[in-house]
Amino acid sequence: MNKFISIGEYIGTIEEFIPKKGTYAEDGKIYASNIGELILDHEKRTARVDGKMPVELEVGQTVFGDVLSIRKNNVVVIIRKIQGSDNEVDIKSAIYVSNIANGYVEKPEDCFGIGDIIKAKVIKIERGMIDLSTKDNFGAVNAFCKRCRNPLVKSDKYKDKLKCLNCGHLEDRKIADDYGGVRNL
Ligand SMILES: [Zn+2]
Repeated sequence: MNKFISIGEYIGTIEEFIPKKGTYAEDGKIYASNIGELILDHEKRTARVDGKMPVELEVGQTVFGDVLSIRKNNVVVIIRKIQGSDNEVDIKSAIYVSNIANGYVEKPEDCFGIGDIIKAKVIKIERGMIDLSTKDNFGAVNAFCKRCRNPLVKSDKYKDKLKCLNCGHLEDRKIADDYGGVRNL
């Protein structure tokens, strides 16, 4: 009987097993990097997880997701799509305030709004925690007015602001290079 395992779950030590697909090692310990069936090969001394997730999330991948909540130090994002894959996923992740932009960001709420669709890069997967970055050309690809919830468009006047065509509200966002290119996920 093989065991069903989730991201970040402890599998064993690197003395016991060689970490294979669907796992990662940290401080000599092996954890699952995917949800699925844990396959331990005691003969070959390997540990792998046969993923249930349609696509395995990896560091360096570009993902699309929506902003679930904004806290003091981070932005919680639900990843819905991985670039290059048509499968839909539902993976919780976070962008720490220092990973939002290349310059200093004081408050995450100055860069994103709840419900915004963002394009980000996976920079770290550790114990089930997924860290994203929106530095460089990443950021919001579709955002909504905080006042009236209508879609925002790029402002002609201010290059770092978005404007609501409905109520005229100007809003700050960390904007992706291809803002407006993604309508929905
Ligand atoms: Zn508005």
